[in-house]
Amino acid sequence: MTSLWLHGAQIPARLRLTPGSRFDTVVIGGGLTGLVTALLMAENGIEVAVVEGRRVGAGTTGSTTGKISLLQGTRAQQIAAHHSDHALRAYVEANRAGQEWLLRFCAEHRVPAERVAALTYAQNEDELSAVRAEFAATQKAGLATELLDEVDVPFPAHGAVRLADQAQLDPMALLAALAAEVESHGAPIYESTLVRGVHHGERGDLVVSTEHGELAARKVVLATGTPILDRGGFFARLTPQRSYLAAFAVDEPIPHDMYISAGSPTRSLRRVQGPDGELLLVGGNGHVVGRGGSTRRKADDLVSWARTWFPTATPVHQWSAQDYAPVDELPYVGPVLPGQNDIQLATGYAKWGLTNGVAAAIALAGRRVGDPPDWAGALASWRPSELKALPTATKVNGAVAQHLSAGWLRAVTRHDGAAPAEGCGAVLREGLHPTAVCTVDGTTTRVSAICPHLYGIVSWNDAERTWDCPLHGSRFAPDGTLLEGPATRSLTPLQMPRGTS
Ligand SMILES: Cc1cc2nc3c(=O)[nH]c(=O)nc-3n(C[C@H](O)[C@H](O)[C@H](O)COP(=O)(O)OP(=O)(O)OC[C@H]3O[C@@H](n4cnc5c(N)ncnc54)[C@H](O)[C@@H]3O)c2cc1C
Repeated sequence: MTSLWLHGAQIPARLRLTPGSRFDTVVIGGGLTGLVTALLMAENGIEVAVVEGRRVGAGTTGSTTGKISLLQGTRAQQIAAHHSDHALRAYVEANRAGQEWLLRFCAEHRVPAERVAALTYAQNEDELSAVRAEFAATQKAGLATELLDEVDVPFPAHGAVRLADQAQLDPMALLAALAAEVESHGAPIYESTLVRGVHHGERGDLVVSTEHGELAARKVVLATGTPILDRGGFFARLTPQRSYLAAFAVDEPIPHDMYISAGSPTRSLRRVQGPDGELLLVGGNGHVVGRGGSTRRKADDLVSWARTWFPTATPVHQWSAQDYAPVDELPYVGPVLPGQNDIQLATGYAKWGLTNGVAAAIALAGRRVGDPPDWAGALASWRPSELKALPTATKVNGAVAQHLSAGWLRAVTRHDGAAPAEGCGAVLREGLHPTAVCTVDGTTTRVSAICPHLYGIVSWNDAERTWDCPLHGSRFAPDGTLLEGPATRSLTPLQMPRGTS
């Protein structure tokens, strides 16, 4: 399930790391946050390198919807419910700075970005109150939103809040230009180099341990989506949320603007200019990674919805991606531990990282050169408002604990040795050890079902044919290879029992 953007992307492979190299700053992660951070630092004369575990864009950025918007679904009212007006305005200012930087970069580097309006619409009468609340919160935050009683679209819409002059783009075209610009400033990007950890070395430097050797750095930035180091316990303040997307060829006219529903199940729509004409992109059906049953059903349901309202819709690409929702609604950008300024992180964008990620990069680079923007405090990684978020954090972790024990109990005993049917996976108990067995493309594999991050029991994702951890969102290929998440190691491979195929 490769995204529309990754499918057409033509980004040349980047360098292999030379072990023993030393940099002022190593940025871990070659998504939007990492590349913009590296570029802003390099532009300020800082000697920086990017280390990417897979390929540039392989994380969430390469599979996003690609909306560059300050009207972000119902984010403003959610932030307003937890924070002061000042914090809400600072969040919007941060996103405005991110959006302006991004659109300027696109204009200067010939990355097409199309100006369109963004709408948060009510799918039914019940969602109208959320639409009105979003209008009120965005007005308070200084956005020029308007309230619409009618929306001219072929799917159910009972009113909307609208913000003119937002934008949409192909995120891989953006990353390709960013990567080229980072390298033109002499900053290397090392791809296919998984970072396993960061520790303090003997001479006061940080040591970045990768699968291909070590690098030394004075500072490290974790731009890895969810942070890969457990020091600040950020995994306990984030909920990993996976959603589904599909691009359709359609004969019906495609609505011009960008739309997202105010309620659940989420329906997010936009137009995309494909090589053979316009496509309709539909996203939604989000859920916590590894929880909520069959993912195939969620992906299929999105296709049925699109066909109901666009009868000729034919899916040409289907994919899925995940992002991380912070317990107190604002992103976390700053030190991994209070006062530990040599390791910084940026996460918690709640599916609005194309502006938040750039804002995070501006804040990180600004702090590094002693000139942080005024709004940076609202996105701090450690802030007093987190005390207010403790009940939510407790709830999030209560659910995690429940899934930890449920996963271990769910592992069932099975003695027949039969391989799961094609495309299926199951967790079995062999002695005390839960084993994940699946069959994909005719090959049956057995791996340990225990996620190496914090020992959750993985569950089978039947849409993508992966093993997903319901605790903190780590994901693995059928053979156990790490795909994403706070884990930095793969699931342990196990031998097939004799007599099975
Ligand atoms: C379905 C969906 C739709 C979305 N749509 C929108 C949208 O329309 N507009 C919007 O603003 N936002 C949207 N978002 C959110 C946005 O796409 C993300 O917040 C943003 O792309 C995150 O960028 P990032 O650089 O922080 O993370 P990523 O793009 O995930 O980059 C992190 C990188 O770190 C690498 N990495 C991880 N671990 C390691 C390791 N151990 N060693 C080395 N490298 C590592 C990964 O391979 C990855 O490339 C959406 C999110 C989802 C899930």
